[in-house]
Amino acid sequence: MINLLNKVVLITGGSRGIGAAVAVMMAKAGATVALTYSQHKSEAHKVAHRVAEIGSECLIIKSDAADPADVRRAVNAALDHFGKIDILVNNAGVWKRGAIGSMTEHQWDETMDINLKGTFLFCNAVVPIMKKQRSGRIINVASTAGQRGEPFYSHYAASKGGVIAFTKAIAAELAPHNILVNCVSPGWVETDMTSHVLRKGKEVRAINKGIPRGRVASADEIAGPVVFLASDLANHVVGAVLNVNGGSVLFG
Ligand code: NAD
Repeated sequence: MINLLNKVVLITGGSRGIGAAVAVMMAKAGATVALTYSQHKSEAHKVAHRVAEIGSECLIIKSDAADPADVRRAVNAALDHFGKIDILVNNAGVWKRGAIGSMTEHQWDETMDINLKGTFLFCNAVVPIMKKQRSGRIINVASTAGQRGEPFYSHYAASKGGVIAFTKAIAAELAPHNILVNCVSPGWVETDMTSHVLRKGKEVRAINKGIPRGRVASADEIAGPVVFLASDLANHVVGAVLNVNGGSVLFG
């Protein structure tokens, strides 16, 4: 029922984790994929290989989401190669611990620059293309931290709260142009980002207790809602914060 044939999707941070799962699922739905990554080159190539096995093309672009020139270069590379960008998934992000009182400006800036400014930079570069096309979908990856805060990750929480507010603002601004903007808001997801916490049995049991579903999500379980928001099934969904957290945080 979900059909993304002839659609071109640009995914930031697609070399592993949620971004990689989105790339593969988008390809299964028929889309052609461009993905960016900052590190993990060999993993990015593995994702491209999986996409090719499904029968779709995958362009890999090394690009730092926090660097304006790099972002422009990545968007131009995808546009030059495929001739259009139908769907943008702002997924690139970092989650690094930092206690308030001893957090350095560098720690703060790094997280804000990748998670929030990176989302702005990609939207700013892609929206003119989508306006010309008179259609587009943008899906931003937020976090429960942006809804309820997260102790020892205040910079991360602020960046994701910013992503949510930014999503709502541009969703209303761009809907008249037939560009639909939404975000997914995952809770705990099993990826390389969280593996250092989720490999500890005691901590996992405590985390699972806080999730009515009783367990953390897989990357595929986040990719599904992203693909849904990119599809015609979501034609009237604008500015939504789609909770994908097993019931742990129930803010809209
Ligand atoms: P991950 O660390 O496995 O993957 C992150 C991806 O982002 C990688 O492809 C990496 O190369 C890319 N990236 C990092 N910095 C970048 C930069 N400067 N420029 C370009 N790409 C960069 O993490 P993940 O768990 O897959 O997280 C993906 C998104 O989901 C992030 O935005 C994260 O904040 C969000 N999220 C994750 C969880 C979780 O529990 N894993 C929960 C809520 C939200």
